[in-house]
Amino acid sequence: MKKSTLKTEWDLTLLYKSISDPQIDADVQAIEKACADFSKKYSKNNTYTTDKILLLKALKDYEKTLTIVGSSKPYSYPALMRDVDSTNTKAQSKMNQVLNEVTKSMNNMVFFPLALGKIDVSMQKSVNADSKFEKYSYFLNSLWKKAKYQLSEDVEKVLALKSMPAHQMWVDTQAKLLSLQTIPYKKKQITLSMASVLIPELPKQERVALHKLVRAKLKEISFLAEAELNAIVADKKISDELRGLTKPYSATILEFQNDEKTIESLVKAVTNNFPIAHRYLKLRAKVLGYKKLHPTDMGVPIGKIKSKFTYEKSVAIIRKTLSKISPQYEQIFNDFVTDGRIDVYPRKGKRDGGYCWSGYNIPTYILLNWSDAVRSITTLGHEMGHAIHGEMSKTQPILYKSHTTSVAEVASTLFENFIFDEVIKELPEKEKIIAIFERLSDSVNTIFPQVALFNFENELHNTINTTGSMSAKDMAILMNKHMSAYTGSICEFEEDDGYKFVRWNHIRYFFYTVSYAYGQLISTALYNKHKQDPTYIEKINQFMKAGESDTPENIFKAIGIDTTKPEFFVDALKSIEQDITELEKLVAKKKK
Ligand SMILES: [Zn+2]
Repeated sequence: MKKSTLKTEWDLTLLYKSISDPQIDADVQAIEKACADFSKKYSKNNTYTTDKILLLKALKDYEKTLTIVGSSKPYSYPALMRDVDSTNTKAQSKMNQVLNEVTKSMNNMVFFPLALGKIDVSMQKSVNADSKFEKYSYFLNSLWKKAKYQLSEDVEKVLALKSMPAHQMWVDTQAKLLSLQTIPYKKKQITLSMASVLIPELPKQERVALHKLVRAKLKEISFLAEAELNAIVADKKISDELRGLTKPYSATILEFQNDEKTIESLVKAVTNNFPIAHRYLKLRAKVLGYKKLHPTDMGVPIGKIKSKFTYEKSVAIIRKTLSKISPQYEQIFNDFVTDGRIDVYPRKGKRDGGYCWSGYNIPTYILLNWSDAVRSITTLGHEMGHAIHGEMSKTQPILYKSHTTSVAEVASTLFENFIFDEVIKELPEKEKIIAIFERLSDSVNTIFPQVALFNFENELHNTINTTGSMSAKDMAILMNKHMSAYTGSICEFEEDDGYKFVRWNHIRYFFYTVSYAYGQLISTALYNKHKQDPTYIEKINQFMKAGESDTPENIFKAIGIDTTKPEFFVDALKSIEQDITELEKLVAKKKK
């Protein structure tokens, strides 16, 4: 491929001609009409919940309606425009207008899955035995599974209305308090987020000093987090008890469409294997030349990689990697780089970081902020994993095109690993070891602290639920207890380090970070299987095409990965441990 054929800015004309293209409003109107028609036909008359022939007809109608109302095109266009230019006020207001109108219309459709959930057990059995419903089977059965925990329409309405003041307004208040805090640094006042960015880049003494100020500030304002967490945990307990959900994490796992036992055996396997993380952290301390690790030593780079990866060079590396793995992947990638579906370089007004934007009825787009660093090429690999997963799931019927939170990061991590294997070949010997170290840090950090956080949350909820409340001081002690369980004695926490819970946003959304550990371990297993046998790519493709057509357990079981067996997670962890052993050998060799 010639360099000149690469497009490095998004071509959004694949969606609409311009922000004033009348087709945008026409598409929004089509969505409104389709929702209104469907609602008119089915919301008042629910005979389809008792009659199989009418049910099949209603399901077909629903699917047809979704092909219109599921389109993310009118919203995506202004949203993508705004993401590459925050000063584009026209795009911003168009986006708000479309979002308002579409959300209002979609609310008219919510009654349908709720009504389907109420279908009685004898009819459920008859539907499950009828091959005409095969296509809808997983859709219906997951609704029925969730319906067991749904309450009467009136109660659901009250719960939905009160979730704003009982949960989100607390969380927003906490975020606001945090954003207003400043600490002194070099004769200036800086915000806590500025301090987080600065800390890993500072020399040891300075970063320890700044960290101390952050911690003291968090402790000082922890009175609000104490009230907030006690309130939102108590609110959750009320809803869970009403619904009959027995464990603090039950609702989250139900949402993942996973089996509770799978997640429990994942948590158990990782917790039992915290010594793997201890070994990794000891090696980290050794390489940095420290006897003990301070909390701020966890995020500092262990060395500098000078090798540059330009975008053109990286495209060639990724093409080569993908062509060896699967011609289909290479083809999809080629289309992305030549069609203007990757916005590559940073510029003023463009959003930070990287993401993959996919949706129904639109081409997938990737946003990057290229810097020629190793991180740039592995990020492109990561986002391409999301993109290829999304593209391949498009073969599913509309009900199953998406995928659940717990499998969201499987393909992206897998592709990152594929690309990394080629990247490493491009580096000189002394940079190789740094890159391998950072790579391993990523996987260790995705697995162990996330499970430690799960254990913290579980104990936080159980304590508040049984004793009624918990003080900020006790929350800080609990945080230190679970964090030092995963780090081992090499890391020294002081009492005030426990106050990091004050600004750990994830715990406000209950248990979901465990999905990162789940995705990482499954992608490790897929990677190893493919390494042993390249024809395993057929099975990987089977997963990539599966979308949301079954539970994660069944999708993976069909390709030889039984996540319901605790040994599965133990084996995947062993493979991480082997990588640590290899790295220990490399470090020892370098020292000689
Ligand atoms: Zn991702």
